[in-house]
Amino acid sequence: MKFPKISLHNHTVFCDGTDTPEAMVLAAIEEGVETIGFSGHSCTSFDLSYCMTREKTEAYRAEILQLREKYRDRIRILLGIERDYYADPDDAQYDYVIGSVHYIVADDGAICPVDESREQVVSDVQKHFGGNVYRWTKRYYETLALIAEKTHCNMVGHFDLVQKFNGDGTLFDSELPSYRLPLLDAMETLTNSDVIFEINTAGMRKRKIPYPSPDILRWLAQHNARTVITADAHRKEDILSGFESAVLYAKACGVGGFTVPRGDAWVTVSMGDA
Ligand SMILES: [Zn+2]
Ligand SMILES: [Zn+2]
Repeated sequence: MKFPKISLHNHTVFCDGTDTPEAMVLAAIEEGVETIGFSGHSCTSFDLSYCMTREKTEAYRAEILQLREKYRDRIRILLGIERDYYADPDDAQYDYVIGSVHYIVADDGAICPVDESREQVVSDVQKHFGGNVYRWTKRYYETLALIAEKTHCNMVGHFDLVQKFNGDGTLFDSELPSYRLPLLDAMETLTNSDVIFEINTAGMRKRKIPYPSPDILRWLAQHNARTVITADAHRKEDILSGFESAVLYAKACGVGGFTVPRGDAWVTVSMGDA
């Protein structure tokens, strides 16, 4: 039982990664990767600290397409993008889009980053959500529920990213209905829109388990939602990071197969013949 060596969520020096696309391609070839896809952070003009500017997006696209040609006999390279809910409009063509929510907007109009730091979250909850963390998590899931409609994504990125700084459970109680009900609404909406849900191993590097949490993944498996394992790598060492553990985790949650790009289509491979 394994996951094919297909890695679709990778960042480079064009956004907030530490390696060049070519260094990542070479590392992937070294590891026998079948397909590597790049997913630079789309331009989100109110915060250029981690994402690509418009000009950089052009350079990124040109670089990935050039590498695709250069290494076409050795590895398959896909040009993707991780498009934030609040990203600037972009009608360029990509092989696939990962739709993610990295910011939420409070009732007072404040733009609040979800995954920057725990201090930032605590401060935003106090200043912009009346001190109620469940209003903050609700706003996240309300935004996420609309991600497929807004970004036309193939995949949903790190579903429960709000758990990033809640590894010890002290930020909020994920058993409470005030947390769970908006989450359930988002799962239902997104499952109906037939997007693929990431099992994102970056969660393991921060809170020991991938995104999403087991209860969410079990629900997705029971509702036949499609899933794919991704690394959200920001350096070449992480291209397949945590994939083996993620397979066991997915199996324990009842996931029977994964959906991956092969040829011109997304195909679902069962655990047995991945
Ligand atoms: Zn992301
Ligand atoms: Zn990412």
